[in-house]
Amino acid sequence: MKDYQSMNPYNGEILENYTLDSSSAIHNKLQKALKIEASWSTLEIEVRCQLLTKVAELLIDRKEEYATLMTKEMGKPISQGIAEIEKCAWVCDFYALNAEDLLADEIIDTDADESFISHDPLGCVLAVMPWNYPFWQVLRFAAPTLTAGNTAILKHAKNVTGCSMAIEQLFLDAGYPEGCFQHIKAGHEEIEKLIADDGIKAVTLTGSEKAGKSIAATAGSNLKKSVLELGGNNACIVWEDADLDQYISTIATARMQNTGQSCIAAKRFIVCADIYDAFLEKFTNQVTSFKVGDPIKEDTFIGVMAQEDLAEELQKQVQDSIDLGAKVILGNERNGAYYSPTILTNVTEDMPVFKEETFGPVAAIIKVENREEAIKVATNSRFGLGSMLFTQDVDNAMNMISDIPDGAFFINDMVKSDPRLPFGGTKASGYGRELSREGILEFVNKKTVYIK
Ligand code: NDP
Repeated sequence: MKDYQSMNPYNGEILENYTLDSSSAIHNKLQKALKIEASWSTLEIEVRCQLLTKVAELLIDRKEEYATLMTKEMGKPISQGIAEIEKCAWVCDFYALNAEDLLADEIIDTDADESFISHDPLGCVLAVMPWNYPFWQVLRFAAPTLTAGNTAILKHAKNVTGCSMAIEQLFLDAGYPEGCFQHIKAGHEEIEKLIADDGIKAVTLTGSEKAGKSIAATAGSNLKKSVLELGGNNACIVWEDADLDQYISTIATARMQNTGQSCIAAKRFIVCADIYDAFLEKFTNQVTSFKVGDPIKEDTFIGVMAQEDLAEELQKQVQDSIDLGAKVILGNERNGAYYSPTILTNVTEDMPVFKEETFGPVAAIIKVENREEAIKVATNSRFGLGSMLFTQDVDNAMNMISDIPDGAFFINDMVKSDPRLPFGGTKASGYGRELSREGILEFVNKKTVYIK
């Protein structure tokens, strides 16, 4: 029996039929993970780091193959897929180089002869992941978490099941023991059961707010640790002195890369009145210059959305905003899963394109009188993943740091993830951090050791 299919959103081609794993198959995979837990967690850290280096090498060797798979399964423009795989190799190299230091005992002076914090792995961690960056979302969790001595079970979004299988094979090919990293094909009920199982020690989710609430509730009722990386509605604030010639390409890319399907994309452009006309002209020109087309072609920058229903949903958010007075400057045309790059002006704070996350190529532009109003409008959001501010007045921008209640504040650049820096949100964008030292310490027991 086939339970679901994967489909190329660009041309509708059916790629594969899949059967969900049975409860007993999922149970067996968990047992496999538990069986190797002791040997994996006590392996020398150098060996785990060497394996991770091998993953990085394989990623680079196979980047075209993996990028093509992403393009087929979720329509990612291939050049951005290749960049995604290169970034995955980077996060592996980063932890291969730094994990030993990051996990080292932390000595603390007390009345004891010796006292310190040790960092022990928790055990098997369940990862529930989305389709938008099918490799990156998984690798940025798996690289630190496995290297800290945990094992992992991945439940990926259904439309990228091929990527999920490829990632499991990648770890096996790199020499990871069987059971260390496994994928499952599971429905939501099985995930609930798995979180409740004693064998699962923690869960991480990257996905929507709705999924976050459900998974956090299950984790909470079973007293399991959870990390949630949820949606975002990032503000891109443009003060009147912003250097548009230098940054307009960054600003437009912040919205349109990955065909707008990024949690950290700039979604609300909050622009001071004195620069508004110049901004609108340059921004529109920049967005119009992006090459739209078949995602398999190397020069395509904006492809199709991952699924037709997502494009429909986006169109509805735009239409509801138009009904409330938003004006279409560019785009708002849909053909199947394709949704043309869209710019809306006259956006107000009561509109869906302001209040909700728009997960596609739609830029909502809000004109404000001055810098103070810009900050006020920017922070009027249920989400808290990140904000960016463009200005030549960096000193005054720095005075705003404490006014931004988000997980990240970028001045004169787009919000982006970097293995060396923590990544995560506040408010409806979730909790916990990935990447950097913070990320590798999310799934360890920070044990106090006291010796007298
Ligand atoms: P979903 O939340 O629908 O799905 C994400 C994953 O969660 C999928 O594997 C999905 O499985 C699973 N899932 C959903 N609901 C449940 C549940 N109740 N129990 C168990 N598993 C569940 O999100 P999308 O795939 O649509 O991804 C887009 C969303 O993710 C956007 O809102 C975006 O902002 C957010 N996101 C956040 C990121 C971040 O880093 N903060 C990064 C990327 C995306 P299935 O496919 O089987 O439903």
